[in-house]
Amino acid sequence: MSVMGPGDRSRVARLPGRAAYDRETICAIIDEAPLCHVGFVDHGQPTVIPTLHGRLGDTLVIHGAQRSRLIERAASGEPVCLTFTLLDGLVLARSAFHHSVNYRSAVVFGAGWRVKEDEEKLAALEAITDRLMPGRWAEVRPPNPRELAATAVVAIRIEEASAKLRTGPPVDDPADLALPIWAGVAPLTTQFATPEPAEDLTPGTPLPRALRPR
Ligand SMILES: Cc1cc2nc3c(=O)[nH]c(=O)nc-3n(C[C@H](O)[C@H](O)[C@H](O)COP(=O)(O)OP(=O)(O)OC[C@H]3O[C@@H](n4cnc5c(N)ncnc54)[C@H](O)[C@@H]3O)c2cc1C
Repeated sequence: MSVMGPGDRSRVARLPGRAAYDRETICAIIDEAPLCHVGFVDHGQPTVIPTLHGRLGDTLVIHGAQRSRLIERAASGEPVCLTFTLLDGLVLARSAFHHSVNYRSAVVFGAGWRVKEDEEKLAALEAITDRLMPGRWAEVRPPNPRELAATAVVAIRIEEASAKLRTGPPVDDPADLALPIWAGVAPLTTQFATPEPAEDLTPGTPLPRALRPR
């Protein structure tokens, strides 16, 4: 089994039984997460910024405006930390203390650089677009040279990473089990609601494949 941790930064200390370090688990969380949070230190100030992402093997890619602070810090080569979170359910216990959530999350450590070659930028933008909606890149007009020049792409090689997962029901104190308070899990899923066509959409334009009823 191929693993991405644990290392000095990624070893789960708190509830280590919930940890996973295998590539398959970590990459599945990264690929399912609709967004990530990028943490960096900006002039001594820890800062965490949410953004979209894609994955090309063991390299994560993010994009943005050429002069954005996020892009500049992420591409600086200084250490960055990215988190990916999937909320699977609310864990409702009889006591406030034992409330929790079911989740799958990943924490990634690495350092980034600016992607300069157009071909590599396009591959990164395809990964980001298709992570947002599977198959979307093939359906849309690709970036023209002006758009490509205006878009900065940062690649971040995964140096080490951890996953942490909670599943299952609440764990209440034995003394609370007879209390007349509902306990269990309220599952959460993320799904598309009814699509809302743009007002200026040409009538009859088919829906993106990923939004069509199955
Ligand atoms: C949706 C959600 C809600 C949560 N709510 C709470 C809460 O209310 N209170 C609370 O204390 N904790 C909560 N957690 C757990 C929290 O993410 C941390 O795992 C926990 O607080 C311990 O943090 P630490 O820095 O002390 O862990 P440590 O075990 O000391 O962290 C060491 C290393 O373990 C890894 N690691 C730690 N946490 C995670 C993680 N979640 N996913 C992947 N790798 C991880 C990282 O690589 C980290 O650098 C929640 C997690 C999720 C996903």
